[in-house]
Amino acid sequence: MPSERDVTSLHRDSSWEGVRAVVAGFGVSGFAAADTLNHLGASVVVLDESEGDDQRREQAHLLEVLGADVRLGTGTTAALPGDVDLVVTSPGWRPSAPLLTAAAGRGIPVWGEVELAWRLRGSDPAPWLAVTGTNGKTTTVQMLEAILQAGGLRAQAVGNVGTPILEAVMDPEGRDVLAVELSSFQLHWTQSMSAEAAAVLNLAPDHYDWHGGAQAYAAAKGKVYEQVQRACVYNVADEATMHLVEEADVVEGARAIGFTLGIPDRGMVGIVDDLLVDRAFVEERATSAAELAALSDLDDASPHNVQNALAAAALARAHGVPAVAVRDGLRAFRLGPHRISTVAEADGVRWVDDSKATNPHAARASLQAFDQVVWVAGGLAKGASYGDLVRDARDRIRGAILIGADRELIAAALAEHAPDVPVELADGADADSLMDSVVAASRRLARPGDTVLLAPAAASMDQFRDYAHRGDAFAEAVRRLGRD
Ligand code: ADP
Repeated sequence: MPSERDVTSLHRDSSWEGVRAVVAGFGVSGFAAADTLNHLGASVVVLDESEGDDQRREQAHLLEVLGADVRLGTGTTAALPGDVDLVVTSPGWRPSAPLLTAAAGRGIPVWGEVELAWRLRGSDPAPWLAVTGTNGKTTTVQMLEAILQAGGLRAQAVGNVGTPILEAVMDPEGRDVLAVELSSFQLHWTQSMSAEAAAVLNLAPDHYDWHGGAQAYAAAKGKVYEQVQRACVYNVADEATMHLVEEADVVEGARAIGFTLGIPDRGMVGIVDDLLVDRAFVEERATSAAELAALSDLDDASPHNVQNALAAAALARAHGVPAVAVRDGLRAFRLGPHRISTVAEADGVRWVDDSKATNPHAARASLQAFDQVVWVAGGLAKGASYGDLVRDARDRIRGAILIGADRELIAAALAEHAPDVPVELADGADADSLMDSVVAASRRLARPGDTVLLAPAAASMDQFRDYAHRGDAFAEAVRRLGRD
């Protein structure tokens, strides 16, 4: 057997010839990892149980032409090949997957695409501003990207938001700074990252099944603060995020910066009247606070999106952008689809698609943004419970329309904590007819001034392709209703 290569000291300009790498999982980041390692000269084997769609098969073909060995289909990931120096895993793979436990048992390093990207940054690399949290990550990195770009920087939102980090890191044109969205899965597989600044937006139950419990989930999120250079940004209203900062081993001089919807103490960013205000990154001698933006500069000033904006502002300010860039960036920013987006207003009723609210914590934020709501909820609970959510939101719920596999859990929570709230179950043979009955039932319950809010607090895959399909089906059904 050829001797094993130590990959831990390799970087972008090293010779990767002779390194035998296995890429486990051929998704978006798997392709980026395989392509990059192949380009560096490593010999690459890609393994995935699924044959994938047309695009994936095309990518597989491309890699094979370039010399990689791509093995897709049932049984391909059952065992780790014999001669391997490095495994790069898809973030979605559980650590208990046999191939990964075999790698660990043989002492072979297992990295995620984020770890690989961190190690492959060039000699004058763009700093990383990292964002994690149970909810709000994508919105926050996109706000951050807009702010950094308004500050004249070549900035890009990468990571879990969609574009693999490797793509930006390996691009010869370079970037000034990266706004990096990291999921708990990605963080689990990351070891050596040292972000310039990092934020944990909030911490609520999610993905406990994958991580094996609350502690492991929090620990994965907390890794974002490890070795932070300048600022650990935390949520004053969510103590758990502050504890993660306290536990982190940061570079000397790095500061803890809180964001709050209240008036900020010194060293925080927060709200004064209707202004976003910085009391952290200001010259103490000159002034005690800097005005960053007005609430009216935001596309949506729901409390959770104000929090996201404050976190993005804190990260951008840690990087050194001027206050005016925060304002200009937030003015330019628009929320992504299926995130509290109004799809129609008719007869005094607003119809809102927040299909991206796939867990109770997200749905809670949504429900709090409106006074009286006909709540459309249900789907796959992923182990979540609904009692607290319903208890806290019951005064706002005019009625509830429940769909999906685990809707009995929500129905039971409503029966216990909000017994006066009318509940209807909606069904349909397919996504469209299901949403037609959801919309018809919602219209019966809604009164002028109310909002019909699709904020399911559950995943969509039992009845829809994904959350976008669920949101689109809702919006189309609302439009069909308007044409009646
Ligand atoms: P993520 O990338 O973490 O999934 P998104 O920015 O895509 O987060 O938002 C997902 C959903 O989470 C939104 O539709 C909204 O319902 C909710 N949400 C967004 N920001 C927050 C926040 N700061 N706190 C709680 N819920 C939030």
